[in-house]
Amino acid sequence: MHTAFILDAAKAIQQSILDNEAALESLDRAIGDGDHYINMKRGAQAIVGMQEELASLNTALALNKIGLKLLSTLGGASGPLLASFFMSMAKQWPAAENANPLSIALAFDAGVQAIMLRGKADLGEKTMLDVLIPVSQQFKQLAEKNQSKAYICSALIESAEQGLINTRDLIATKGRAAGLGERAIGHLDPGAKSCQLMITAVCQLALTP
Ligand code: ADP
Ligand code: MG
Repeated sequence: MHTAFILDAAKAIQQSILDNEAALESLDRAIGDGDHYINMKRGAQAIVGMQEELASLNTALALNKIGLKLLSTLGGASGPLLASFFMSMAKQWPAAENANPLSIALAFDAGVQAIMLRGKADLGEKTMLDVLIPVSQQFKQLAEKNQSKAYICSALIESAEQGLINTRDLIATKGRAAGLGERAIGHLDPGAKSCQLMITAVCQLALTP
């Protein structure tokens, strides 16, 4: 995976966020403060605006710069969390000659663990981690079994969708929605929705011949 793919992925993510304005807006209005769409849109715009700056960097450096940029642009609770995801993934990113599904899965996992550490959260707390943790676990398992890129991408799209759906019946124990108690039940988590959108956009791009 090269920096050119990361740049295309940023554009695909931005498009997906713009296409899902209504969903992201209404979810964060229901169990948050309504700013999640604006935050994500601003973050995606900032990254797409860095195309020239990123193009000459290797993938690890580009991912680290993306993290730093998100830290200063995204905002909200999700800003610093997604920023640590990219910066920690960058640290573990394999050199070009060692890039394969397993080394990329391990870098992705380092990013997810950074979110867990920073947000002091785990599976089942109605956050973005309800998408990210199962996706990361499945990514590692399938890569260890030497499954094809196409198989892994399709499986991760399904896993992200399932993780998102699982947030519907959870009570939130982290973030703004934690104050709502049982009133959060019946609503998908907005951060889980945006992570599902991002994972789907990247996997669909990777599936494109
Ligand atoms: P804010 O809650 O500050 O308005 P956003 O609306 O941008 O920030 O993001 C809210 C999302 O952040 C939630 O839907 C949830 O997925 C995620 N989130 C909040 N707190 C945590 C946490 N401690 N760990 C993981 N994710 C979290
Ligand atoms: Mg919010």
